[in-house]
Amino acid sequence: MASIELDNLRKVFNEGGGDLVAVDDLSLKVDDSDFLVLVGPSGCGKSTTLRTIAGLEQPTDGQILFDGEDVTDMGPQERRVAMVFQDYALYPHMTARENMSFGLRYGSDHDDEEIDRRVNAAAEMMGIENHLESRPNELSGGQQQRVALGRAIVREPEVFLMDEPLSNLDAKLRAQMRTELQELHSKLDITTVYVTHDQEEAMTMGDQLAVLNDGELQQIGTPLECYQEPANTFVAGFIGSPRMNRFEGRPNGNLLETDAFDYHLPDDVAGQIPTGTDEVILGIRPEDVKVVDSPTENSLSTEINVVERMGDLTHIYTTVGDDECIITLSGQAEVAQGDEIEIEFPTARIHLFDGKTGDALKNRDSDVSIGESASISSGIS
Ligand code: ATP
Repeated sequence: MASIELDNLRKVFNEGGGDLVAVDDLSLKVDDSDFLVLVGPSGCGKSTTLRTIAGLEQPTDGQILFDGEDVTDMGPQERRVAMVFQDYALYPHMTARENMSFGLRYGSDHDDEEIDRRVNAAAEMMGIENHLESRPNELSGGQQQRVALGRAIVREPEVFLMDEPLSNLDAKLRAQMRTELQELHSKLDITTVYVTHDQEEAMTMGDQLAVLNDGELQQIGTPLECYQEPANTFVAGFIGSPRMNRFEGRPNGNLLETDAFDYHLPDDVAGQIPTGTDEVILGIRPEDVKVVDSPTENSLSTEINVVERMGDLTHIYTTVGDDECIITLSGQAEVAQGDEIEIEFPTARIHLFDGKTGDALKNRDSDVSIGESASISSGIS
């Protein structure tokens, strides 16, 4: 298998006379056998990056290395990559077997016996051995996607490139296929780059996440690093659902003054705000907001707008100043719309960002585990 390195990759499209920078100076490394998820909102350059790694797009600038070898000018065939697309891209007039064997039959010199062996093994791995003689229109969406994956597997590629492969499936099947893809990856150990706009899919699937916005890399790290230690307000807002609460404030000594409340910062936290910073954003994840019985130094009172019961969790929507504030409690909280509650933002759980650049100044303490915080936040149960 191969490691992948993108070195200052840049792709500019010429749109109606103007330049559109789809990928902006992107550098990252995917280790051999790793599973990297490229995640970001629509139009942030995920597919263009993937297509450039595949050799389907030529970069405007920068280099692509597989195992240290420069493949930037190589064609897709020479790169030993297999790509899986959102729309499966199966030939409608061919059976599943013919679809899976097509690339090998016409793009390699393997004999019929070897092709049959690979197709049968991949079909068994994907659980579609009984559908090999069916045409795509006789198969469900999930089965078609399994054929598309099988077609990629039989090529025994060095690298898998997957572009939103699960987005055409319903929620239940998507969750099942997510697990199957992870199992497949641990079985085959093929270096994989997986594109999705769905942060939940990204969180559950990747060894590493690369979060993109406007063609620029915002952060690369494990899913938990991106969740617990977001590099900036973009990552903080994009990763995690419901999204992180945020309040704009002005530092004044040990106080962070927002339009709705004054937050008291201990010396060590206030010290993390560089001198001269005049705008700071306070962020706190919904599960880190604590419901308290009586006012504390950093608590405030708010009225419940909406209660969303998820079964295992309860999301409470309130307004603080002009901002929405979401509180997630574990279990079935006994609260109702219109209730007045006292909420606290514990200092150990807050994030601070520079209000102008969006860069993180302080992340929540990582020595408090997520499990522990869930029980802290269940002030009402
Ligand atoms: P989505 O999730 O919607 O597929 P994406 O993050 O994959 O989005 P890209 O498809 O890589 O984004 O597109 C990045 C930018 O480049 C977009 O503004 C898009 O319009 C533009 N773009 C992509 N392909 C081309 C092309 N062939 N010609 C001109 N512009 C393009």
